[in-house]
Formats: sequence, C-alpha cells, structure tokens
Amino acid sequence: TDIGSQKDRVVSEEEWLQKWEMGNTGFHKEQGHPLLQKYLDVLLNGRSGLRIFFPLCGKAVEMKWLADMGHSVVGVEISEQALKDFFAEHSLPYCEEPVPEIPGAKKLQSTSGNISLYCCSIYDLSSSIVGKFDGVWDRGALVAVNPCDRQRYVSLMITLMEKNSSYLLVTVSYDPNKHKGPPFYVPESEIKSLFG
Ligand code: SAH
Repeated sequence: TDIGSQKDRVVSEEEWLQKWEMGNTGFHKEQGHPLLQKYLDVLLNGRSGLRIFFPLCGKAVEMKWLADMGHSVVGVEISEQALKDFFAEHSLPYCEEPVPEIPGAKKLQSTSGNISLYCCSIYDLSSSIVGKFDGVWDRGALVAVNPCDRQRYVSLMITLMEKNSSYLLVTVSYDPNKHKGPPFYVPESEIKSLFG
C-alpha cells in the first residue's frame, strides 16, 4: 500500500493539548482494551511484580488494571490534563514533583507509589531517568507518533527495555489514502524493520 500520503504529516504537541482541552479524545477507551485482556499472558509471561511502561499513555485505564494486579506502572504523556483526569477518574490520590533531569517536566505519582506518570515528551526520557521495563503496552503510541519520528521513537523504546521484556503493540489497518491519521497506518513490514 502507498503510505506516501501520511509520511510527511506532523501533529504538533500543541494540537494534542488542544484535543485534550476540547474533549476530542475519541481514542480513549473507557472500558479498556480487549486486546490487553486477550494477550495479558504474553505480556506477563508468568512473571509478577513487573515494571510496565505506557508510552503516550493518555488516561488509559489499563494502567489501573496492571497496578491493581501488583505491577508497577510508569507512563509518559504531554497533557497534564490527561494525567490529572486519570487520577481523578479512579479516585487515586497522588503527589506532584519536578523531574530534576528534565526542565519543566513533572512526575505525578500515586500516593501508594505504584503508578508514576511523567508529564513531558517521551523524547525527554532515558533509561537513566525512568529505568528499564519488563513489559510495554503500546496502544495509540507508535501509531500516534509522527511518521518522521518513528525510528527515533522505536530506538528509544529499545533502550528502555530489559533483556527479557515483552512488548505488546496494537496497530490499525486501513487505507492510508482515505484517512490522514492519527492513528497512522504502520505496515507490518515497517514494524519489522523498525524493531529489527
Ligand atoms: N495510549 C493512550 C493515548 C493514545 S492518543 C490510549 O490508549 O488511550 C496519543 C497520546 O499521546 C495523546 O494523549 C497525546 O497527548 C500524547 N502525546 C503525543 N505526543 C507525545 C509525546 N511526544 N510525548 C508524550 N505524549 C505524547
């Protein structure tokens, strides 16, 4: 398929913040994603007490699911509103602190300590700041990244993964000439070359 129509498209951080302000958040799944339930065993692989990363997390309810199962959840999201909504909608108390390594960034952490959400761009993170993860839930993340930033995004994700970590990736399949995205169409061949 010809993805030429999407490859130069750029959605700015400002546009994402506006979506949150205007309530244009049709991507949010109130009931959580059925594919996480379906493939939970693949993500966990019999392990408990994992560190799970949610790139471009929004207010994904799956973060609460995994925290409730005893895992430790870390997310990153540029919209502070999304993160505050997440804690409010689950009635979770949290505290806010600056992130010394990232000017202007904040970390919102549940008082219980098992959910830490960074309010900054994912490109500001590194393993020296957030550590490495045993699992990644990538839904609405790779497909939301600007096509020109995909390799940078994937290279960063690889540096955030422990040796035996598992990565669940949700993509969408459609004719990229009919919709401008996001979500963008990322062909399977490109996923293979991105992750190697
Ligand atoms: N994964 C979530 C949200 C998907 S929408 C879900 O499944 O519901 C993509 C999200 O990425 C938006 O909330 C947007 O604000 C955020 N975002 C876009 N660019 C980002 C960046 N560079 N760093 C962190 N978050 C970003």
